[in-house]
Amino acid sequence: MREGTKKFAITSKGDTVSNMHMQRMKTYLQDFDLVLDEENPDIVVSVGGDGTLLYAFHRFKHRLDKTAFVGVHTGHLGFYADWTPEEIEKLVIAIAKTPYQVVEYPLLEIIVRYKHDGKPSKYLALNESTVKGVESTLVMNVEIKGQHFETFRGDGLCVSTPSGSTAYNKALGGAIIHPSIKAIQVAEMASINNRVFRTVGSPLILPDHHTCMLKPINQEDFIITIDHLQILQKDVKSIQYRVANEKIRFARFRQFPFWKRVRDSFIAE
Ligand code: NAP
Ligand code: MN
Repeated sequence: MREGTKKFAITSKGDTVSNMHMQRMKTYLQDFDLVLDEENPDIVVSVGGDGTLLYAFHRFKHRLDKTAFVGVHTGHLGFYADWTPEEIEKLVIAIAKTPYQVVEYPLLEIIVRYKHDGKPSKYLALNESTVKGVESTLVMNVEIKGQHFETFRGDGLCVSTPSGSTAYNKALGGAIIHPSIKAIQVAEMASINNRVFRTVGSPLILPDHHTCMLKPINQEDFIITIDHLQILQKDVKSIQYRVANEKIRFARFRQFPFWKRVRDSFIAE
């Protein structure tokens, strides 16, 4: 392989239209001397929706510092999938010809520690992680920066990244955070608030290096989601959230400001 040859991987949502555009793009990229490499790609193209890019992120999360992502949408405009199929030729030329610009977005780090032996589990989320009870209401002590903050009782808690703030977090009344801000947001899901139980009620935005630690009181088993993945966690001692050291890198070939994406997705026709 020639020095400097760009290696690419490409993923599809799996429907007929996405598969067709994936094939088309694969052929064009190879015509421009890029090499298909599903193991060590320099660039990962996702064809489908935001969900497809979440999947691609988890598939290549072991080499985030060496990979840039780009998303083509075959349905509605996405936050991660912001190129249209009509732009594929233009996109391929840009990928092949230019030393492209890369923008980095913050990720969420999740560390689950267990009551009995077993080493902690570490996860990275691009959108968010949620915690819910398995059979009953979630009850958790919430610590922020090592200090007790509140005892949460309710359906669950959602901790999101800035780029994930337009997903589940938004449905929970969380704020939309610009991805240039290194922060995580904690949003409540239907907290119980009365004279006995109290939570702050508002979403909280924590800066880099501030941790949010959830500690169970009586329960030990929880449903934890990491983006589209659901994991049953047993014997849980604590769940720790903070801004990850790792970042996701997006290849940037044109201006498409975040606030314009927000407007085009939620407001404009
Ligand atoms: P899904 O159920 O197909 O996706 C839910 C919707 O969220 C899809 O329309 C998806 O876009 C969109 N989405 C994903 N990431 C987004 C982002 N960063 N900003 C704005 N919209 C976004 O499941 P999925 O495609 O595997 O995505 C998993 C995500 O679904 C989770 O990370 C969570 O954020 C979200 N979710 C939302 C709710 C809710 O709003 N009540 C509940 C559960 C999960 P595409 O159609 O382009 O894929
Ligand atoms: Mn989806």
